[in-house]
Amino acid sequence: MADKFDVVVIGAGPAGYVAAIRAAQLGLKTACIDDFVGRDGKESFGGTCLNVGCIPSKALLDSSKHFEHLGKHYASHGIKVEGTPQIDVPTMIARKEGIVKKLTGGIKMLFKANGVTGIHGHGKVLANKVVEITPVAGGDTQEVTADHIIIASGSVPIAIPNVEYDDEYIIDNAGALDINSTPETLGVIGAGVIGLELGSVWRRLGAKVTLLEAMDDFLAAADKDIAKAAQREFKKQKLDIKLGAMVKKAEVVDGKVNVTYAQGDKTHEATFDRLLVAVGRKPCTTNLLSSDCGVELTERGQIKVDDECRTSVEGIWGIGDVVRGPMLAHKGSEEGIAVAERIAGGKPHVNLDVVPWVVYTEPEIAWVGKTEQQLKDDGVDYRVGSFPYAATGRALAMGESAGMVKMLADAETDRLLGVHIVGANASELIAECVVTMEFHGASEDLARIVHAHPTLSEAVHEAALSVDGRSIHKVN
Ligand code: FAD
Ligand code: NAD
Repeated sequence: MADKFDVVVIGAGPAGYVAAIRAAQLGLKTACIDDFVGRDGKESFGGTCLNVGCIPSKALLDSSKHFEHLGKHYASHGIKVEGTPQIDVPTMIARKEGIVKKLTGGIKMLFKANGVTGIHGHGKVLANKVVEITPVAGGDTQEVTADHIIIASGSVPIAIPNVEYDDEYIIDNAGALDINSTPETLGVIGAGVIGLELGSVWRRLGAKVTLLEAMDDFLAAADKDIAKAAQREFKKQKLDIKLGAMVKKAEVVDGKVNVTYAQGDKTHEATFDRLLVAVGRKPCTTNLLSSDCGVELTERGQIKVDDECRTSVEGIWGIGDVVRGPMLAHKGSEEGIAVAERIAGGKPHVNLDVVPWVVYTEPEIAWVGKTEQQLKDDGVDYRVGSFPYAATGRALAMGESAGMVKMLADAETDRLLGVHIVGANASELIAECVVTMEFHGASEDLARIVHAHPTLSEAVHEAALSVDGRSIHKVN
């Protein structure tokens, strides 16, 4: 007899493991199946985010930031370092691995504490809510049945024609988080979020980094003013971003990667020690659904779901990167919690219109809500406020004067429609803007709230004042 669960979750990334823990908290008998195997050959819960995404990339961003500040910025504080700072890349990578292990081990512990049955295996949805599990380590398959199945199988990197990953010279995000010595030159295909973050890591450590971006616009999803300000800073840092650059092919010859790309009507050749391909991710549905299980896909290969994450089969749900919406860890986690609560009879809601985005470069870039170009396209009448970091005492004290806050509010009602930040700690500053938007607040609300002095949050406060032309520390 097959084991029977109330809930079986497929995938233990931030969408799946969170859903499993919440379901178990609600008293549901829950199993979570995951097939991730690291480059070290070991099984590990946590999905892309914890193993080869959010967390390891932030660990390397922090290490490389300290290194760059030590070499370039500490002298202005009067801090002297004898000789030139050195980076021990294997130690940096080992630190990152330690953080990953701590967090992925933490999920195992949380599963145990909450009574979730964690299974390292590949799950396949069969008809009648049966899940077939193939153990990662090999061996016989087993079948389990469930009243509810939550599909949280995540996403995988997209490959482009004529550029084949070899995991050594032509690499994806996992490879770029595991390089054991700084390459002299790193090519990156795609100046999106991964390209900018991981490109920044290796540039700070001394690599000459060139990003080849197909689009003519830089960071097209961001507000134009913010993207422009960020681009200016990246240029100062000598991150070489080539826009309108279409890669035609890449091949490894004698331990180097030769890349051919077109820009306008010209064809160019470039040679790099390593090539990171970061052109987006696609939903992971490999060997996930039997032909008779009834779960439908969209044209883009995502699991088709409604606003409440229901698939085309009653009792089967889809959450996280494998369904529509932004491919962000926090979006997947909130969907996971909501689905678990819905299964238990609750009526939760996730508002996908108010999901913050953060790019963890230096300066950081963060936004929530609509961009100015979107409001124009939608014909919305709006007012804009902005405030430069350079006019904020705390930013100057920190030596972080590059950046700005831009705020967009409805011209008639003053309801906050979008906030866009480029600058230090943008990742944290965006939180109060998210809260305000979620509570349908106005720019006036942020303008009337007492903000501690001196903090970077004063830039948010001043941008709110500036929507009404009454900023104090800049000329309106
Ligand atoms: P995943 O995390 O991809 O997890 C899915 C899991 O399911 C995987 O372990 C996979 O092996 C497993 N699986 C797939 N199919 C099966 C199957 N059939 N059976 C069993 N298991 C299966 N997002 C942020 O919000 N902030 C960041 O700072 C951030 N940084 C990132 C940096 C990088 C380099 C990358 C690549 C991504 C980053 N992301 C970030 C995106 C974030 O990682 C994803 O949005 C998030 O991991 C999606 O969560 P998920 O649970 O849907 O899927
Ligand atoms: P992305 O969509 O952010 O960027 C991909 C870039 O590649 C785009 O600018 C696109 O125009 C460009 N591109 C596509 N095809 C190309 C080609 N043939 N040649 C040159 N350029 C090409 O995707 P990503 O950077 O791979 O990241 C994937 C996803 O992972 C992100 O969209 C995001 O959802 C998530 N992520 C989030 C964070 C974060 O939250 N800080 C960090 C990393 C990744």
